[in-house]
Amino acid sequence: MKLIDNWKQAWKLKSVQVGAVSAFFYALILFADQFVGIWNLIPQDVKNMVPEQWKEVVGCFVGVAMVLARLKKQPELHDVNQFVTITAGHSNADPGAVSGKYKEAELVRQFRNAVAHYLVAAGLSYKTDGAGTINLPLTNAIALAKGASIAIEFHMNASANSQANGIETIALPKDKVLAQKLSKAVADVFGSRLRGQNGWIDQSKSARGKLGFVNAGGLIVELGFISNEAELTAFHSKYWSAAKAVAQVIIEHEKALK
Ligand SMILES: [Zn+2]
Repeated sequence: MKLIDNWKQAWKLKSVQVGAVSAFFYALILFADQFVGIWNLIPQDVKNMVPEQWKEVVGCFVGVAMVLARLKKQPELHDVNQFVTITAGHSNADPGAVSGKYKEAELVRQFRNAVAHYLVAAGLSYKTDGAGTINLPLTNAIALAKGASIAIEFHMNASANSQANGIETIALPKDKVLAQKLSKAVADVFGSRLRGQNGWIDQSKSARGKLGFVNAGGLIVELGFISNEAELTAFHSKYWSAAKAVAQVIIEHEKALK
């Protein structure tokens, strides 16, 4: 075959050989998907027009491209199963803590929606216990937490002492560092202090005892005290920035998993 003879000449030059092979495979890896896509669109009649002596070469090329395209798909398949869960505490039926006209369930729902906004912008897939004004009950939140790479529920604390303040995240000991990062993200924006161990509270030391959401692997972020005038004001004026900071912690956590 003439083609083979000509190629043999070129192979003698080491630089041509290495350059051509690496460029060929680089192009093949980059465009394998597109090539296979185009190949599948070509009608069989046209494929039959490939000269006999080229059929083996083309067949081999298509085979390699298909394998490469499949290999490239692997990480994407993994991504499909990776998701974040963010939920709002309490529900449309249960307001949680109340301070004047403000209800915990409504404030944390706004916060959840703001975090969701930034997750969408980052291209992350997530599950929530509702959009807009919808806030489904805890049983839904626990179900959504299962299988998530990170599950967070937002709450606000309340106390009879109007001076009680600070940010905390209740989580299992394995999520201590993540809990501290989430609390710090919120506290830095609101100008609040951290509660517990630098923002982390083990549920065994929490006033509420064992929590279904935490047992399901979730983290509960307390976004300050609704009963504290200053923290409530900070929440109203800065919750979008705090949500952005929380989303950033989530995005970094997700990136580290990929
Ligand atoms: Zn709550």
